[in-house]
Amino acid sequence: MTAQIIDGKGIAADLRGRVAEAVHRLVRDRGIVPGLAVVLVGSNPASEVYVGSKMKMTSGSGMRSFDHRLPASATEAELLTLIGRLNADPTVHGILVQLPLPSHIDSHRVLSTIDPAKDVDGFHPVNAGRLSTGLPALTPCTPLGCIYLAKVVRKSLEGLEAIVIGRSNIVGKPLVQLLLNENATVTIAHSRTRDLPGVCRRADLVFAAVGRPEMVRRDWVKPGATVIDVGINRVPGSDGRSHIVGDVAFAEVSEVAGAITPVPGGVGPMTIACLLANTLRAACAISGYSFPASGMGIENVYGRD
Ligand code: NAP
Repeated sequence: MTAQIIDGKGIAADLRGRVAEAVHRLVRDRGIVPGLAVVLVGSNPASEVYVGSKMKMTSGSGMRSFDHRLPASATEAELLTLIGRLNADPTVHGILVQLPLPSHIDSHRVLSTIDPAKDVDGFHPVNAGRLSTGLPALTPCTPLGCIYLAKVVRKSLEGLEAIVIGRSNIVGKPLVQLLLNENATVTIAHSRTRDLPGVCRRADLVFAAVGRPEMVRRDWVKPGATVIDVGINRVPGSDGRSHIVGDVAFAEVSEVAGAITPVPGGVGPMTIACLLANTLRAACAISGYSFPASGMGIENVYGRD
């Protein structure tokens, strides 16, 4: 068997296009321009690249983007003051604080200071709690992108056995909640899981969010399973230059899986597309309108607010 390659890049471009059209309608009919503020503390090169593409795609979809840079020496109090200002600013509908933060700043305190209505990363405890109790919530972008991709190949996830490898607050745990909302039967695995290959082999849906290059091997995967690879790992190549691989051994697993995401070009592009969708959703909710998921043709993932 050769797996269907799930084209995250193309699917993300399509979602961004749907968001841009909906933004255009919101501006034209209601005079509301969604605004996203991105806050970067310090000068981590990878974070600068992420922030740059988030800002570019935000403007590209017709939204306002606000760029806030603080030096690595900024104090927690300075950052909290900035967030307070953004919370109160009516032109800002979404606030994203790029992680990781410098070690002298308590990221839990910072994320909890963002107004939950503007928490487009979905990391605020209120949004995490709403998601886990089945209430509408701003949901973390990467897990949302994973569900979106899985539903491109599987119309319904109901009754399927899913494994999520990794239990972080930003990927693994919210992904479990989203899968439960889809009525999948979910196992969450981590570094202490016994016989991980055996547990993984049971799954119809495999989500790998570990941060270990090519850990999931061919014999871990049930024939025909859908494999969504969240991992982004930089490894040295045979040409001496570094390149990016996922948490799944792509070449060998694609011989048994039914469908698989590549790295790069799978989950990564979906994260930013879902961030734009979350910003639009926040702008609609703050302004008293419902998120037009059905008008955008994405109600199978977002439901109706
Ligand atoms: P994280 O916070 O480091 O969590 C990693 C998880 O993997 C932990 O729960 C850990 O278990 C588990 N783990 C580690 N080694 C394991 C092993 N040998 N067997 C089973 N489980 C193991 O990572 P993260 O932030 O969730 O990110 C995971 C990966 O996704 C990284 O490669 C990251 O770069 C990537 N990522 C991609 C995107 C995107 O947009 N595509 C977004 C976010 C993250 P314990 O809890 O027991 O330690």
